[in-house]
Amino acid sequence: MSDDLRVLAGDCTITFEDTETTTQRGDVVALVKPDNTVLVHDAEGYQPAAWLTRAEAVSVSENVITAIDGDRQLRVRAHEEHGSDSYSVSPTGEAVGICPDDECGATLIRTTGAVACTGCDRRHGLPSDASILTETCGCGLPLAAIDRGERFEVCVDRTCESLDERVQDAFDGKWGCPKCDGDLQIIRRGGLIAGCERYPDCEVGFSFPNGTITEDCGCGLPKFETASGTRCLDATCEAT
Ligand SMILES: [Zn+2]
Ligand SMILES: [Zn+2]
Ligand SMILES: [Zn+2]
Ligand SMILES: [Zn+2]
Repeated sequence: MSDDLRVLAGDCTITFEDTETTTQRGDVVALVKPDNTVLVHDAEGYQPAAWLTRAEAVSVSENVITAIDGDRQLRVRAHEEHGSDSYSVSPTGEAVGICPDDECGATLIRTTGAVACTGCDRRHGLPSDASILTETCGCGLPLAAIDRGERFEVCVDRTCESLDERVQDAFDGKWGCPKCDGDLQIIRRGGLIAGCERYPDCEVGFSFPNGTITEDCGCGLPKFETASGTRCLDATCEAT
């Protein structure tokens, strides 16, 4: 996804109104980000001289930027403009491949919760614990490795290949319900759940841990090695 970043450089008066009004003047560079964040940078340090994060409304006219958010207003007025323009910007992240769309071909990057294209609107949501592999799917997108009981390598596009189906194929009916004669099946309710097949008569359900199965717990359910340690599928289990 790419969008325009607006840049204004000049000798400006910067007025910030909150409970009181502060006015500054100097040669600055003002940035208006696609999410309406406005940053005014002067000569020193990384911190802006003035800013308004994700303003409700931003207007940019000839030589004035006005950003309004509730009772706060930031106004940048150029007395003399050194330059102004718009530039295309995208999210940044580790480069993980090339967009397979014939007409795009831009770089794919890994953001916290997705693989996104820097050139088009392509975005594939991913669990935050997924790691992106160098191998690609037949569709051209990279594969992701995701630990759900065991390590699954699936396409980052869940409409191409479903992680849920792979986990279901591996673990549906594999463990008995600790409360009744039913088996646990894998369903998605927000997150992945190992829940009793006799629902709603039996309400046993465990959220499926992000990790791999290492051994059986004394209770008969599996134990998972997760980022925060080893735990039983039943997070409340006290068996060893
Ligand atoms: Zn693309
Ligand atoms: Zn694919
Ligand atoms: Zn049950
Ligand atoms: Zn247990």
